[in-house]
Amino acid sequence: MFRFFIIFLCLLLSLEGVFAEERVLIKDLRYYEIANGIRVVIEGSGIVEFSKGQLKNPERLFFDLKNSSLNKELRREILLNKSAVSKIRLGQFDANTVRVVFEFVNANYEFKIIQLEDPYRLIIDIYSDLESRESKEPRISKEPKNFLKRKIVIDPGHGGKDPGAIGPTGLMEKDVVLDVALKIKELMKNKPNYEIILTREKDIFIPLNERTEIANRLKADLFISIHANASPNSYAKGIETYLLNWTDDEEAIRVAARENAISVKKMKQLKGELGFMLASLEREAKRDESVRLAGYIHNSIASSLKSSFLRPDNGVKQALFYVLVGAEMPSCLLEISYISNPEEERLLADDDYRMRIAKSIVDGIDNYFIKSEKIKTVKYTDNYPVRAESKKGKNKKDKAKKL
Ligand SMILES: [Zn+2]
Repeated sequence: MFRFFIIFLCLLLSLEGVFAEERVLIKDLRYYEIANGIRVVIEGSGIVEFSKGQLKNPERLFFDLKNSSLNKELRREILLNKSAVSKIRLGQFDANTVRVVFEFVNANYEFKIIQLEDPYRLIIDIYSDLESRESKEPRISKEPKNFLKRKIVIDPGHGGKDPGAIGPTGLMEKDVVLDVALKIKELMKNKPNYEIILTREKDIFIPLNERTEIANRLKADLFISIHANASPNSYAKGIETYLLNWTDDEEAIRVAARENAISVKKMKQLKGELGFMLASLEREAKRDESVRLAGYIHNSIASSLKSSFLRPDNGVKQALFYVLVGAEMPSCLLEISYISNPEEERLLADDDYRMRIAKSIVDGIDNYFIKSEKIKTVKYTDNYPVRAESKKGKNKKDKAKKL
């Protein structure tokens, strides 16, 4: 994925001369907390060339964005209290340059930069908690030798300006999935072998590819995106789990198109455009693990909801979800019920139902790791529950269609 972006950037940069006269508008600057620091996202109308520098008294890091102008409505100064970055300032430095300045409490920081397209963004990650990170290291080395801490990134879908699907009485997908993710974090708190990181803990908007970027940067072991399904057919109901792959299944294409916020037509075009990336060896290597992960989590949710709430099990499916494309670790996407179905909307609004889902996701993650250890120490097996469930789900769906 990253290689793809580099190729893409090179192409764009080679075209740059043609459009040299066109000014890049710096449309937005936003930030949020990541582990040990903050992520600052500068969004522009096009790709921006920049230079950077550091200054003393006070400690500052600045970026000069070339050939660009500033959206006049943007705040010029942001004060931060929680992080070692005390202040972010931005302004039109000269006629052609926008300058962004970070002020620090001390010189103890590191940063990384990445550019993404669609929309164009310059992303600056600033790690400012170096002292506490270093002081933690000796403690980690004292842990028993076999102690493995698993990093799991849970991604509550949508957020902020993107509500996701909305139920018949107005319940929003973004609120339901955030609450389930927060419940998972709470449930995992007492498990010392897990570290849970949420891509968002509040009602904020995060573009799809920034979500896996968080997981990749943290070198997470798993990436799990949580969503609620919707269909024009208000009778559609039940639980589905998705893996990243292409598909010819119209229903799966429709679900992916909705989650990707594009048309079904564009979704079908994408299959060809992204095919070479998905076929990469790296992805193939992760595929079996993602199949197992999806299987264990899906079976756990499906059996829990089937026994207590009589929810149908629609099986594990495949589709091309943007949010999973960049993940460098086993990943899956959960559609925890249909918010468009009046009965399931009512259930999704219920705290017990959400807690039941959160618990079953935690159980599924536990199972995945327990069985992974067994597979490693015993032998490889192709007896995955996911395949049987998949088939079962398909038959059920076919039946549902006939009714
Ligand atoms: Zn969604």
